[in-house]
Amino acid sequence: MRKKIVVGNWKMNKTFAEGLQLVEELLASQHDAAITKIIAPPFIHLSAITERVKSENGFEVAAQNCHQASKGAFTGEVSAEMIVSTGVKNVIIGHSERRIYLGEDSTMLAQKVNLALANNLTPIFCLGESLEDRNTNLHLEKVKQQLKEGLFHLSSTDFSKLIIAYEPVWAIGTGFTATTHQAQGMHNFIRAEINKKYGKQISESTAILYGGSCNAENAKDLFSCIDVDGGLVGGASLKANDFITIVNSFS
Ligand code: PEP
Repeated sequence: MRKKIVVGNWKMNKTFAEGLQLVEELLASQHDAAITKIIAPPFIHLSAITERVKSENGFEVAAQNCHQASKGAFTGEVSAEMIVSTGVKNVIIGHSERRIYLGEDSTMLAQKVNLALANNLTPIFCLGESLEDRNTNLHLEKVKQQLKEGLFHLSSTDFSKLIIAYEPVWAIGTGFTATTHQAQGMHNFIRAEINKKYGKQISESTAILYGGSCNAENAKDLFSCIDVDGGLVGGASLKANDFITIVNSFS
């Protein structure tokens, strides 16, 4: 059976004290212990939050990014090795905000995936089409290309370690959520592409999360889709009640 996972991407929100407060509220909440709950705070909070969470009741921590080089003269950057040295187990790679605002391309993202895996970090690899791609019916082609360029160089063993997040760019932070039909359609397409490349066993066991204005009201419908294994949640992860309602939305 595939893992069910909800990731809370805090982006550039929460001071240190606010972050610790949110973690306390999450740990104290009534949540489904069988769901993997991954908190992705800003880098500067990672060490303290990882120390506090200690995999309690299915909680884990993720970094929001890592650099594509293993070390060196890259002022302000953080390496996969540094992240893992704080006890963090996961890293988000290829978020559309970084692809768009920081110009991260497929070559760079493939390097980040390789380094994350080499350091035993689980990549949460984000992909998704723009509104223009969707309106011109190029969304499947775009996602197929992102899969191929970012991930399909991996061996079966490495591919089977990662998590995929389908995040249509037009739905991130906009309040426009993909319909269940659109989400299921794309998740099924991604799974079929994985099947073609890596076979049934790996395609059936890869967790594919939905991201894009997922919230406490729509999570139940989205998570009821057969190929949706959970969510990557931005705005709604900043309030403990909303995040926990989403975690508890699997039927
Ligand atoms: C995200 O940050 O990946 C995201 C999906 O944001 P939001 O839930 O706010 O749309």
